[in-house]
Amino acid sequence: MRTPDLPADDLAALPGLAAFGRTATRLHPRPGTVTAADSHVGGPLRWPADEPWPVCAHPRVVSEDVPLPQDLLDRLAAAERGRTQHNIITDEEFVLLEELAALVGPGFSGYGSMNGGPTVGHRYVSRPHDNPMLAVAQLRAADVPDLPTPGGADLLQVLWCPFDHAQDEEQVWGPTIRLVWRREADVTGPLATPPASAVGEDHYTPRPCRLHPEQIVEYPYPQELPEPLRGQADKHPDYVNTFMAPGWKVGGYAKWQLSDLLPTPCRVCAGPTRLMLVIDSGEGTEDARWRPVEEAGVDPGSLGYDADEPTGVVVGRWGALRVFMCPTCPGAPFRLDQQ
Ligand SMILES: [Zn+2]
Ligand SMILES: [Zn+2]
Repeated sequence: MRTPDLPADDLAALPGLAAFGRTATRLHPRPGTVTAADSHVGGPLRWPADEPWPVCAHPRVVSEDVPLPQDLLDRLAAAERGRTQHNIITDEEFVLLEELAALVGPGFSGYGSMNGGPTVGHRYVSRPHDNPMLAVAQLRAADVPDLPTPGGADLLQVLWCPFDHAQDEEQVWGPTIRLVWRREADVTGPLATPPASAVGEDHYTPRPCRLHPEQIVEYPYPQELPEPLRGQADKHPDYVNTFMAPGWKVGGYAKWQLSDLLPTPCRVCAGPTRLMLVIDSGEGTEDARWRPVEEAGVDPGSLGYDADEPTGVVVGRWGALRVFMCPTCPGAPFRLDQQ
């Protein structure tokens, strides 16, 4: 697939920006039939039958409802009626809310009623599990020009556990990730039949998609640019959407719209990591800037899937899960960021 060219005027308007261009490979996943021999999202992996399948042992987090005594709810309602300003809680309410939180217990996250049902408390609790991980993507260096090749590997396999996990070190709430790098030529025998992964969150089960990789050039998030370019980029009416690709991609630059720019040092050597992979909730196809030219005239309603969410994967609040990899440490350690 091919992304429309960046209008020459856009680059000319930011003198010096061209020097910061970096290649990225847009993966352009689209639903289709895939095999273990292909690069794909959500398909079978080229995985040796005699090699153990990865298992997630990180506790998953589930939301639980806790019944609340009517007496407490009645007292809370009475205290609320005593407010002198409707949006400011009273001291009495505050004490009752503390009582409610203590009753719900650790992980308290609020209370409320769904669809007219009883008012219940909510809490997050960790549940240990040993869950076979789910294949998310397989990327061949032969297909994806920006894929790193640590230790001579030419195949990346991405697996995750399709539940929410509190990953404190990464400050990521979502699936746990495993990356496996190999050489295709090393896998000569029969392939593994993956053990069934427990069905987790719907939107963590990718729809099998063929990839249509395309190498493009993109440009840094404004905060990564030196002055005066940064100031000029900040003044651009639509810099990020013009210069930075949406969707699943390998390489390129990360957007930092939620957190502002954060350091992503390698946890092993403390040196700089590089953006290696983005797993995105949307492909940006609703925007003519990024809609592949092949799909320019296609009626989205005719596709049979949401044109902007071909993989069905949604991470965070319709955000992107980004994998940053150390380019120098053996074993290619990585870290995550989600926004
Ligand atoms: Zn898990
Ligand atoms: Zn390192």
